[in-house]
Amino acid sequence: MEFSSKLLENAVKEMSQLPGIGKRTALRLVLHLLKQPKEQTGFLSQALTTMREEVKFCLSCHNISDNTICEICSNKSRDHSVICIVEDIRDVMAIENTGQFRGVYHVLGGKISPIDGVGPSQLNIFSLVEKVKLGGVSEIIFALSSTMEGDTTNFYIYRQIQDSNVITSSIARGISVGDELEYADEVTLGRSILQRVPFESAFKNN
Ligand SMILES: [Zn+2]
Repeated sequence: MEFSSKLLENAVKEMSQLPGIGKRTALRLVLHLLKQPKEQTGFLSQALTTMREEVKFCLSCHNISDNTICEICSNKSRDHSVICIVEDIRDVMAIENTGQFRGVYHVLGGKISPIDGVGPSQLNIFSLVEKVKLGGVSEIIFALSSTMEGDTTNFYIYRQIQDSNVITSSIARGISVGDELEYADEVTLGRSILQRVPFESAFKNN
């Protein structure tokens, strides 16, 4: 791609670093911004910079938050003894949208995937095991997508906590194998949380 302007080229280059954005789409977006009032670009870059500088990860559940403890963890009306394990914030948002879950979450930040070089130590697993050991947790709900990586991660965590007195369950699989939680419709996802099954039986069925 030949550019008549270095400034334009730089902007396109940065934009095309984003996932799913090729050079042509990046150029279209940049040209769009050029047609908008200057403030619009200012709002965009300000929002991104402020988000990057100020966003926090909840000290308790590791969810993305504006405060050191997120709104869900600091909500006293939620059941803090029931912890739903999810991969990332998109799953939290999907489950929250169902309005069916009154417990709290634990955000792992990914799944165990040796091919991608992601081992248990890169994920927020240790803090979960510690939380269980400290007591006060009655149930752990596994809500990772049922891919091979999801199953491996669930089982790894299960092995770490199986000697504690915590009930382990898995969300019912109205969600078919390999589906990502965020794409499941709210009714299906809501139902699969309410109709969760003991983790051991979910594991044996696989
Ligand atoms: Zn939290």
